[in-house]
Amino acid sequence: MSELTISERIKLEFERLTQKNQEYIGYPLTKNFDYQILAPFLNLQINNVGDPFTPSSLGIDTKNIEKEVIGFFSQLLNAPQKDVWGYVTNGGSEGNLYGLYLAREAFPTGMVYYSESTHYSVKKNLHLLNMQNIVIRAQENGEMDYHDLENSITSRRHQPAIFFLNIGSTMKEAIDNLANVKKIIIKLALKNYYIHCDAALLGLIAPFHNPKPLFDFKEGIDSISISGHKFIGSPIPCGIVLCKNAHKDRVGSTISYVDTKDTTITGSRNGLTPLVLWYALKNLGIRGLKNNVIKCIELAKYTEERLNELGVNAWRNNNAITVVFDKPSIELCKKFQLATEESISHIICMPGVEKTQIDLFVDAYNIEIRQKNEQSLLMPEINEEILWPEYF
Ligand SMILES: *Cc1c(COP(=O)(O)O)cnc(C)c1O
Repeated sequence: MSELTISERIKLEFERLTQKNQEYIGYPLTKNFDYQILAPFLNLQINNVGDPFTPSSLGIDTKNIEKEVIGFFSQLLNAPQKDVWGYVTNGGSEGNLYGLYLAREAFPTGMVYYSESTHYSVKKNLHLLNMQNIVIRAQENGEMDYHDLENSITSRRHQPAIFFLNIGSTMKEAIDNLANVKKIIIKLALKNYYIHCDAALLGLIAPFHNPKPLFDFKEGIDSISISGHKFIGSPIPCGIVLCKNAHKDRVGSTISYVDTKDTTITGSRNGLTPLVLWYALKNLGIRGLKNNVIKCIELAKYTEERLNELGVNAWRNNNAITVVFDKPSIELCKKFQLATEESISHIICMPGVEKTQIDLFVDAYNIEIRQKNEQSLLMPEINEEILWPEYF
């Protein structure tokens, strides 16, 4: 076989990815976007080095756009622009790392409390930051067990508490209840505490929930991380982190080499993703976002109903777009790119997931269940003649 040319390889890779993009229904990644208009930027060096609010001596950035994106999110999350600061990250994980970093700078001896439903990257980040931490039990629906939380804090009331809350857990889209956490803070008269919210998926969804969960700056949170490539969708992973100004001011010194502040985790930063987020948000507007949320919730409801008809214990948290159910075979999980954990799987009804795909999956799962039932109905063969032995 002759070697493929560069353009043939690119074509092949594009076709494979296009196919795989169409097929998945198990991950929280929006698929119906079009950023062709931004293609010319691929031919430029773009670098948002350092703090977005401090211009660098290097002028090839999109910090003006990045600041607008941060402004949008701070308004959405009820923070006066002058009180919060933030930047466009490489994804939700970096935003969580940053939030924990700020928490540690605020309370170097603090104890981090997070539930067992928390994203796998958090444990590693706590290790990187060398922070003391306690895993709190989760309830069946994935939400933090508040009794366990209270019991864990009671014996360490004098140690600063750092709450790491899930606003949409990875597997079950569970929302930790900030009001319950605040009740514990008051009951135990905690003086020093920090609240970080991991809203990787729900940061742009939960503001439209009815009733709206409490997780924004008006409710007293200190920082929040949101993924950009999840609900907005992006060919490059990205995200947003926001924090109270006072926390940011504890970190980052001015670097003379680039003449900007080193407040961010990485030095050189992506200048393309702020453009992607800005374009998507401007294009969709609040109305578009809201419509997407409504459509996704409706499709999730449909998915839940169809799966329950098969008898596979499908369920969702309130308003969730994630449908949790009994894990199907490995073959089906692979074909539809489903995430699994222990005995459960989930489908996440993101923008771009079509009803026809849900139907395809339900039909395939139905066949699998029927085959399993038929197998268990097969009775052992018994030779009738043996049952009538002759006696002489
Ligand atoms: C996806 C996710 C993350 C990680 O976000 P990335 O953008 O993939 O880095 C963190 N927390 C939760 C709850 C998530 O769902």
